[in-house]
Amino acid sequence: MNIYLDYAATSPLRPEVRELLQRCYGQDWGNASSLHRAGHSARMHFEDARERIARLLGAKVEEIIFTSGATEANNLALLGWMREQPKGSHLIVSSIEHPSAWEAAEALTYEGYQLDIAPVDVHGRVDVAALRGLVRDNTALVSLMGVNNEVGSIQPIGELAAEPKKWKLHVDAVQSGLLGWPALNGIDMLSLSAHKLGGPVGSGCLFLRQGLRLAPLMVGGAQEDHRRAGTSNVIAALALAEAMEVTARRRAEEQTRISELRNQLEAELGKIPGAVRLGEERSAHISSWFFEGVHAEPLLVLFDLEGISVSSGSACSSHSIEPSRVVSAMGYSPEQARGLLRLSLGHATTEKEVESVGRLTGVLVEKARRQGGTES
Ligand code: PMP
Repeated sequence: MNIYLDYAATSPLRPEVRELLQRCYGQDWGNASSLHRAGHSARMHFEDARERIARLLGAKVEEIIFTSGATEANNLALLGWMREQPKGSHLIVSSIEHPSAWEAAEALTYEGYQLDIAPVDVHGRVDVAALRGLVRDNTALVSLMGVNNEVGSIQPIGELAAEPKKWKLHVDAVQSGLLGWPALNGIDMLSLSAHKLGGPVGSGCLFLRQGLRLAPLMVGGAQEDHRRAGTSNVIAALALAEAMEVTARRRAEEQTRISELRNQLEAELGKIPGAVRLGEERSAHISSWFFEGVHAEPLLVLFDLEGISVSSGSACSSHSIEPSRVVSAMGYSPEQARGLLRLSLGHATTEKEVESVGRLTGVLVEKARRQGGTES
């Protein structure tokens, strides 16, 4: 058996993107800054990718900055924006942000900026009233994800975007592909990553509203209007544009199909004694659980032995046995936070796969319990 249910970590390439990559690596390898014809052709392709992405988001072409992924886009948004503000300025992030935003925010406190953490409720949704209460006169940035990567909870971006405000709003929209990227009205920055959309790892972008200035993280070249130096990764940009277009084109169909598969899976998992499902208002691609008396690690090993790839939450922290920060922030105990099992579905997930995993999970949970449950 070989079943992949870890789309929130990364996704297999969509066929359209694989085809594009194969074609491009044969033909379109020029340096977009070169003045000869290979360079000119690369430049045309690069700017075409930028235009397509801008069109999909409803942005201007100058507002798209290509990056190596969303870790860089989040770092650029938080560090780049705050470093342009007077020392002592204040920022707010939620308690369930991805480490690439969370640790950037923490790093800023060592540079003399002030940080507050907005709490979430038991379903992993940011408490807007509490967040508003944290805003100060010198708040320069609020950074919030659109959809949480560990439990799939949908965040109140629309509410914050609609608010009259002095501070800037950054949205990490990496997991918002299935739900739909938020409308940019009232949003100042937005991060995206190709590999959660059926594109390759190592490609992403930051939307930055026209007129805003960022201190660059990379210097040493005029690329991206001096905001991100380094030879333009033309093929990565084309792949991001393609992955986004296919995601947008198939969204309605995939929302229906993936919701049905998720419901089918959850109906089975819900029957397991001691099963607790996390989150309420969620994106359909993520289903997160814990099973009383079972830690995630031994369970993941049992899944893996069956050829099933699932995760214990954020892949970026899954090599550690730390309890999930996200689940802890939702008010669960450290013991429960150690048990987080995340199953995430995507464009190539089939009914047969979901059926097999639905059938096997109960058996594996029982096996893990018999083996001692929490030992890893
Ligand atoms: N933000 C979120 C919500 C994510 O899920 C991820 C990927 N784990 C990232 C940021 C980082 O994206 P990338 O892998 O492109 O650096």
